[in-house]
Amino acid sequence: MTVRCGLRRSDRSGIAVLFCFLAGLLAVSCQTLPAVRPPISEPELRFEPPQAADGGLVRLELLLPPNEKPALVRGRLGKTEFAFYPARNPREQSVHFEALVAVPFGTQPGKFEVPVEVLREGKVALSLRAVIPVVAGGYASETLTVDPRHVKPDPVAQKRIREESADIGWVYRNSEPTMFWSGSFDFPITSPLTSPFGTKRVYNGAMQSFHTGLDLRAAVGTPVQAPAAGRVVMARDLYLTGRTIILDHGFGLFTVYAHLSQFKVKRGESVARGELLGLSGATGRASGPHLHWGAVVHRTKFNPMDLTRLVR
Ligand SMILES: [Zn+2]
Repeated sequence: MTVRCGLRRSDRSGIAVLFCFLAGLLAVSCQTLPAVRPPISEPELRFEPPQAADGGLVRLELLLPPNEKPALVRGRLGKTEFAFYPARNPREQSVHFEALVAVPFGTQPGKFEVPVEVLREGKVALSLRAVIPVVAGGYASETLTVDPRHVKPDPVAQKRIREESADIGWVYRNSEPTMFWSGSFDFPITSPLTSPFGTKRVYNGAMQSFHTGLDLRAAVGTPVQAPAAGRVVMARDLYLTGRTIILDHGFGLFTVYAHLSQFKVKRGESVARGELLGLSGATGRASGPHLHWGAVVHRTKFNPMDLTRLVR
């Protein structure tokens, strides 16, 4: 009796294919595995992207040698001081902090400097400076026609706008020092962009401003979802932006949802990523139904699109 224990040709080729597949998988995973950098011996301040347009977001990263444990890391933008948050990067063994900053709209091409200080026991132990190259945003212009009372508000409306603006200012000065978000941001609705951030605007042939957020196409009643976790710090009907929600994501970072038809959350509530905030509409100074999405960090408005590609 003959016992055949060899593999048939088709089995052998099957195993060869499997072997090649596993070897390929291993090679791919070896390429994607992050190389861990040795601990640094000198502090390092870096930023991403390597250059920014005015109205753009920049992530600052401070690395300190592993034996250094600072009590606080802070940065300064004009008179505004802000705290860095402890961050984790699997490629680094060093003590790691991050902060988000925005180059104000209208900043001329050149350098944008952010002083950074490391404090230990209440004293400045180390001073550094991020020098971020600024390039022109190249923003376009557009002409819009809206209800004349929104371009030339009467004295009563002007008073209301001033009061609402002061309340919004208070909100932006009082962000919680808690990192509510984790990972990148989603879009609040999935629909085409109808007007990008930064467009210079002429209303009814007169008043000029710039578009402080971006517009997404949305029929009245489209569900608007939180792009990241945060806390509702405003859900109010405002003169200019209509029914408006502001989320505090912590450490000076806010997002804004304007012209809503309905609120689905209340001030003070915590929201998770993807949670329903409200329904889109055309309230306030809107030329038609859409969602206006805004973003603010350390009281500076910036392009919300950067949240979806830079924040992690
Ligand atoms: Zn808008």
